[in-house]
Amino acid sequence: MAIRNIRQFGDPVLRKECKPIAEVTPRIRTLAEDMIETMYESNGVGLAAPQVGILKQMVVMDVGDGPLVLINPVILETSGEQTGQEGCLSYPGKAADVTRPMHVKCKYYDLDMNEVIVEADELFARCICHELDHLHGVLYTDHVTGPVYDTNNEEEE
Ligand code: ZN
Repeated sequence: MAIRNIRQFGDPVLRKECKPIAEVTPRIRTLAEDMIETMYESNGVGLAAPQVGILKQMVVMDVGDGPLVLINPVILETSGEQTGQEGCLSYPGKAADVTRPMHVKCKYYDLDMNEVIVEADELFARCICHELDHLHGVLYTDHVTGPVYDTNNEEEE
């Protein structure tokens, strides 16, 4: 495993559309392991492949229940609303209040390419929305109407 360089806001790679993954090759597995290690190293709760410069539809996250790898994730349904602080590993030291759905139903594939449907709430739902946005070139600041402020919060996405 290896720590990868996290691309920062302003890097054009963060604005590109990611391609679906057709097959989990050894290279994809290594990417997943590296992304998890990079996320932990940075005290993040989520990381998307374009943040390490790879335009593929994969995100990793850990909202407290261990690491998860989501391949080709799609949001099927959302409901409710939550407004809270959100940051991004590609924009360290900054955060803003973002409104997201309170509940999200998401379909993805795991590293064995098994289809998984997950129902997520609260931080997990927020994290899914944030990371999936990255796969389509969207950043959390695109959703922000209020100020972006400085923070020392360690739970950055
Ligand atoms: Zn992010």
